[in-house]
Amino acid sequence: MNSTNERKLAAQATALGKSASADALGELVQLTHSQSPLVRRLAASALGKLAEIVPATAAVHALHPLLQDAHPQVRQYSAKALGAFGAAAKETLPDLRDLYKNPVEKPYVKRSVLTAGKTIRTAVEIAERSVVHLCRRCGVKLEHDEYIRSQKAFQRPFCDHCFDEVFLDRRNFETKVELQKKIRTPDGTWVQSDGERRICTILHAENLSYRYDERFRILNGYAIRPDFYLPELDIYIEYWGMNTADYKIGMLKKQKLYQQQGKKLISLYPKDKPQMRECLLEKLEKLK
Ligand SMILES: [Zn+2]
Repeated sequence: MNSTNERKLAAQATALGKSASADALGELVQLTHSQSPLVRRLAASALGKLAEIVPATAAVHALHPLLQDAHPQVRQYSAKALGAFGAAAKETLPDLRDLYKNPVEKPYVKRSVLTAGKTIRTAVEIAERSVVHLCRRCGVKLEHDEYIRSQKAFQRPFCDHCFDEVFLDRRNFETKVELQKKIRTPDGTWVQSDGERRICTILHAENLSYRYDERFRILNGYAIRPDFYLPELDIYIEYWGMNTADYKIGMLKKQKLYQQQGKKLISLYPKDKPQMRECLLEKLEKLK
């Protein structure tokens, strides 16, 4: 390229950078392919000056390859220009990092690369914070700290109001279990099911003292709520009354925990109901 032509293109790149016009993009992208390193550098610089004006994606795509340019000043100015595009230049961060770590890179290039990288990372953080998260329960827009707190506690986005409600719901699980106890046994205990009523009646008739539905105990880190505990014999009785897949998985897990902890457990099932007394007393006899 003769020097007259180079001067002409250089002046053109500089003028486009000052044009404040989105129309300058196409020509500047062309100039980033110029044979002249001076023109490429000035084109990169001009794109950076138009950061708020030209479409960011196209400009970043034009600037990105210049980070590998043979001429250090072109690398330097493309890094500076990418910094001006902020979060839109996120995809260039790995290449900026490589340039910064390259032991033979010129110090002035590294300084520009470092500044650009910081600017882009900060812009990316701010952009992520401004992503709108909605409450899963009521649909309200979440503040950033609400989002962080709720994700941490529930792995779901809830606003502060719903956060409290969900938290209480979980705490009230025990209360709900209390409310489900609608069946009264002859000795005045309220239980949840006919199977449990039969067990109470048998224990009462056999003069075996028992506690029904004690608070949770922690076995090996798991919260377990035994249906019945016979303190004099140190025996637990669980009535496994439901038949859903989830319930069965929980049942097997709990049974394994009792076993691992060396606890004596009697398991009774709905199929045992017709001969509940024989079944229970036989299992008790074996454990005593
Ligand atoms: Zn909500």
